[in-house]
Amino acid sequence: MEIYFDNSATTKTDEEVAKLAYDVMVNDYGNPSSLHQKGFDAEKIFVKAKKQLASAMGAKEEEIFFTSCGTESDNLAILGSCMALKKRGNRIVTTALEHPAVLEPIKFLEEMGFEVVIVPANEKGQVDEEKFLSAVNEKTILASMMYVNNEVGSVLPVENVFKKIKAKYPLCQTHCDFVQGFGKIKLNLSKLHIDFLAISGHKIHAPKGIGALYIKKGSKIRPILYGGGQQGKMRSGTESVPLIAALGLAAEKAYKTLEQDEKNMAEIKAYITEELKALPFIKINSPETSVPCILNFSALNVRSEIMLHFLESNGIFVSSGSACSKGEASPVLKAMGIKKSEADSAIRLSFSRYNTMEEAKIFVDALKEGYNTILKVK
Ligand code: PLP
Repeated sequence: MEIYFDNSATTKTDEEVAKLAYDVMVNDYGNPSSLHQKGFDAEKIFVKAKKQLASAMGAKEEEIFFTSCGTESDNLAILGSCMALKKRGNRIVTTALEHPAVLEPIKFLEEMGFEVVIVPANEKGQVDEEKFLSAVNEKTILASMMYVNNEVGSVLPVENVFKKIKAKYPLCQTHCDFVQGFGKIKLNLSKLHIDFLAISGHKIHAPKGIGALYIKKGSKIRPILYGGGQQGKMRSGTESVPLIAALGLAAEKAYKTLEQDEKNMAEIKAYITEELKALPFIKINSPETSVPCILNFSALNVRSEIMLHFLESNGIFVSSGSACSKGEASPVLKAMGIKKSEADSAIRLSFSRYNTMEEAKIFVDALKEGYNTILKVK
């Protein structure tokens, strides 16, 4: 039996989605820019996927741009918008909770002379709204805040903060990394004050290698890739129609069953949390208000990797902190004021619509067994 509790790192591709990608690859393989039937067929599939994605986000079709991954979407939003507005101002405000896909391009811009403010995280894996707002001034051209933190699952006050920023500084553009929220939280972008929103396919049961960026109509942004001028010159490069079709379908499916999936995951999380709370050696790191699909905890005195490998030997796959910061101490847990020894024993569970209560029960038993076995051997 295989139990996969690492869905924030990546997800299993949905079989219907994989089949669609395969069919497009072998049958509708035309280049959407070609002026013959094969090209038109590919273009039709491209447009359908755009519609599906726009509808899942509450956006307009012309506001959707396909990229290769969440990282590219974040980079396009950050680098592209700051290049576009660099004559207007040079200040960027973001949070210490962001993924490297956001922090690294911002660091690059700092090296290029932009002024960067990183608002610290608090012990709840949150940023203080007032602290974020007071960091924004008339020179600020970009405010960037993630929706759901990938390590502990906290939900940041994006809507409120961006609304207040736009009311005071309408020229400041806003970016949201929605990679861990997409398919799990319903947004209606036409009603929100978000100019750029990044998502990734492989977190919602689409294949790896596909992402998208929502760009609100009228926003100021330059491309970061120059070439054949595809996607209205915003993202040159022949469109990966099979993966784009896959993302469209995966998004549609994710939102169709969202409520039921969320309920199932919440039950799984609540069960595991209660069981773990009863164990003296467990410290729960995720805040109570975190999303139903992420649970971060520390099994005290047992290093994460040791527990991870014990669980793996039982067919259970989890993550030690964030899969993106392999081997390094988690800056997010540190920012939350969690002791180094506790951070070193942090385990992140992340669920999907495929997980079951039966798996949750097997996991809890395996964790208890793992703890006793590992400490005995020590
Ligand atoms: N942003 C967040 C919050 C993530 O969790 C990840 C991946 O884990 C990314 C961005 C990067 O997405 P991708 O792996 O598609 O580049």
